[in-house]
Amino acid sequence: MHQHDTSTEVLTQAIVRYSVDRVRMEPPLDGPRTLAELKAMAGGTINERGLGGLEALRVFADVLAPACISVDHPRFLSFVPAAPTEASILFDLVVGASSIYGGSWMEGGGAVFAENEALRYLADLAGLPAEAGGVFVSGGTAGNLSALIAARHRWRQRAGGRFDRTRGLIISSKGAHSSIAQACRAMDTDEVSVTADDEGRLHPENLREAVDALSAADRERVFAVVATCGTTNAGVIDDLDAAADVAQELGVWFHVDGAYGGAGLAAPSVRPRYHGIERADSFIVDPHKWLFAPFDCCALLYRDPYAAREAHAQHAEYLDVLHADEHQQAHGEWNPSDFAHHLSRRARGLPFWFSLATYGTAAYRDAVETTLTVVHEAARLIDAAPHLQLIMEPELSVVLFRRIGWSPAQYQAWSDRLLATGVGFVVPTAWAGETVLRICVVNPRTTVADIKIILDSLVTTPDTDSTPDTP
Ligand SMILES: *Cc1c(COP(=O)(O)O)cnc(C)c1O
Repeated sequence: MHQHDTSTEVLTQAIVRYSVDRVRMEPPLDGPRTLAELKAMAGGTINERGLGGLEALRVFADVLAPACISVDHPRFLSFVPAAPTEASILFDLVVGASSIYGGSWMEGGGAVFAENEALRYLADLAGLPAEAGGVFVSGGTAGNLSALIAARHRWRQRAGGRFDRTRGLIISSKGAHSSIAQACRAMDTDEVSVTADDEGRLHPENLREAVDALSAADRERVFAVVATCGTTNAGVIDDLDAAADVAQELGVWFHVDGAYGGAGLAAPSVRPRYHGIERADSFIVDPHKWLFAPFDCCALLYRDPYAAREAHAQHAEYLDVLHADEHQQAHGEWNPSDFAHHLSRRARGLPFWFSLATYGTAAYRDAVETTLTVVHEAARLIDAAPHLQLIMEPELSVVLFRRIGWSPAQYQAWSDRLLATGVGFVVPTAWAGETVLRICVVNPRTTVADIKIILDSLVTTPDTDSTPDTP
């Protein structure tokens, strides 16, 4: 199994061919299968003698891959889709082939250097200082957790032991992603979730009120203010400057979650809306969302990475060889393991780096602008359609709208049919308690014509048993 022979050579050709074909074709939308169906079609693949690579690849290509919705399909507009570039996907194969340990400079210095170049591009977009740095982690959930762990560490350290057994508190917004609440649960931390404005933005006045309402004891427990640039449900940007002001007044960490919307920093047409992001103590953005990298890839950046390292570096006899600290710092060596809640890691920033190096940053700017233009035109089409109503003007690349007169069951029936017929994947969401539609465009291959196909399919009301509830 570790030798190369004619059968592995045949397998190599088959896998490379499959991968290249998949990258280049218009992806089939595909759709989920039940557990029973998959058991019947692909059960028992693991046995004592093995199936052989070609047969295992056939099972994947014929059964397993079609049971996964293609996130890069141009009419996959649910959640946050993905649209990795050809160069980034092909380089993902290279990363896998290279057996790089991405946790330390000693073992993976070349890879870490390149990842840090990509992090620097993002830090520059955000206007973070030259000393800023961080690490690529698996996703926004991991990035938010690691940033908040660093924030809490700094709060406790500054208190000189006084708060070592005190439960911390963060201030966030109702528009924040579920991973912020999840991080609080993991950290046994309380969360004050400030009421958002009508469009889901962290509102400066509400923020002030929430802070003023804190008791003196609670105020001491605050260790971070969290803002979002690009909320997941509505794609709106919090007032980052106002959030930074409050964090500064409280003397606490300012974290900005840009997992989805941080990519908009690359687009001059919306860049001014991120004013205040340059004041962040930590910032995340997922290149696997709107920056055209394959899963899984979140950039986690710190204003002062060495403060984060104190929270995250692991120490043990078998690791000490990696931590000849003064020497390392003096030589700019960087151990990515030290900057998040992890140790071993894939050099998952490399596909993003390779794609940036291949196409140049102007191509990124243009690709993000392309999606923004399509979304702008989508909003006009919705405005013009008598059966549809825009809920708010899109700020980034999410559009929220309603199909006038439909019940939740009718939205769901329409969505199911859209997927089953291979047309597209759009699921309903909720807005102010009402079932509505949401589309999110991050794929530069999604065209206005694609949007039109979706909107036109909303004319005819699907048959369901329920009666419509008019908003
Ligand atoms: C998607 C998202 C996350 C979570 O990111 P994952 O990569 O899915 O873990 C966090 N915050 C925001 C604003 C998001 O949109």
